[in-house]
Amino acid sequence: MEETFQQSITDLEQFHKFTEEEMKILENADRAAEEMAMPEYEHYLKHELSTESVEIAGKYGLFGIPIKKEYGGQDASPLTLALAQERLSQNGLGFSTLYDVQIFICGLAIQRWGREEQKKEYLKEIAKGNKIFAFGLTEPDAGSDPSSMRTNYTKKGSKFIINGTKYLISNGSIADFIILFATSAEEKNNITAFIVDTKSEGFEVAMRLKEKIGLFTSDTDMLQFNNIEVPEENILGSLGKGLHVGYSSLINGRLGIGSASLGLIDGALNAVINRSRERVQFGKPIGKHQLIQQHISAIRQNLEMARWPVYTAALKKEIYDKNPDNKELIAEMDLHSSLAKRISSRLAFESADRAVQVFGGFGYSLLSPVGQLFCDSRVTRIYEGTDEIQDLKIASSLLGKDFEAYK
Ligand SMILES: Cc1cc2nc3c(=O)[nH]c(=O)nc-3n(C[C@H](O)[C@H](O)[C@H](O)COP(=O)(O)OP(=O)(O)OC[C@H]3O[C@@H](n4cnc5c(N)ncnc54)[C@H](O)[C@@H]3O)c2cc1C
Repeated sequence: MEETFQQSITDLEQFHKFTEEEMKILENADRAAEEMAMPEYEHYLKHELSTESVEIAGKYGLFGIPIKKEYGGQDASPLTLALAQERLSQNGLGFSTLYDVQIFICGLAIQRWGREEQKKEYLKEIAKGNKIFAFGLTEPDAGSDPSSMRTNYTKKGSKFIINGTKYLISNGSIADFIILFATSAEEKNNITAFIVDTKSEGFEVAMRLKEKIGLFTSDTDMLQFNNIEVPEENILGSLGKGLHVGYSSLINGRLGIGSASLGLIDGALNAVINRSRERVQFGKPIGKHQLIQQHISAIRQNLEMARWPVYTAALKKEIYDKNPDNKELIAEMDLHSSLAKRISSRLAFESADRAVQVFGGFGYSLLSPVGQLFCDSRVTRIYEGTDEIQDLKIASSLLGKDFEAYK
């Protein structure tokens, strides 16, 4: 098993006893990450999605990690899921972005909010990796403030007619289903979450965003919904309570981004250690120059500083999952997933920057392992709630509800 990954598991054993099944999952995540590395790299250079990664993850059963056994999953602990995501992110965040949306956000949202028929219908497919999900919250004019969304629904008999545009949607053009958020055309503050089949008439991928500054193997799209008909039974959660579904999904999603950022730091550290041993300047390996050692030390410190908020959030999630309606636990989980994302993403960005510096001119190229890490690290401070929104959430968790500055 990859060394840094093995160390994380060993360190965690004092807090969580991994079952034999969980250890097997982690070994599979390790193998899958190894197998994905080359196709991801090749597709990264061509700026295209790597469908091989989805097949590899499916082959190793990674889509079922947190899904309950009765729906075809392994029902493993949140810590196991976080560690798997960490390992899958060591070479870049293309696949791990797909995985975050598919599993941390959509899979767990259906497991939490879905009716029994919905769980039977969708979770089994999610666990196998047969059907891909997207999460449609953001719009061109509604990002940090989703309550200002314009995508709307009107009721027509037992169906809903949905119109609108969603923007920056990961997995958008490859998704079989989208958890789509829309507001009532008639009543204000009545946002509802729907499970929408992308084969529905009126669904259109309006634009595939290729001109990104990273995440080249991840699919990011503008989606158009023109008079889409959605049956009543496809409401996820209840009518008018869509933001409950949305915000609770993002709590899980932030744990996913925190874990992915942690994996990115692992990747940066491994890359600089190898490079510092091999690259010779002034007659000795650059690792013998003290200022290079300072970069290595700083990235190792970042890894340590990012590990605990992420692992703490994962351990908290185990408790929260057992009592998902307990308001105190929800608030605690919300805070810890924000801390995990905020701390880990900042340190990932800084670590990737240092790694590029250690690699010198080669580091500035996408051909180097750290060029990709640098490009991919930037988005972790934006998607699923920006740095600023996390800061406001963290501060108001201390100051009290009256101080919620982002509402
Ligand atoms: C690659 C990528 C993939 C994505 N995937 C998805 C997806 O799958 N599904 C989805 O729904 N969305 C997705 N997003 C959208 C993402 O979640 C939003 O970009 C993010 O929430 C920020 O919204 P915005 O871009 O509209 O920025 P804005 O909300 O316009 O913010 C602009 C700036 O203002 C700041 N700001 C806003 N409000 C406040 C405030 N109250 N106080 C202080 N500062 C504030 C922000 O922090 C930011 O710095 C993705 C984005 C990217 C880049």
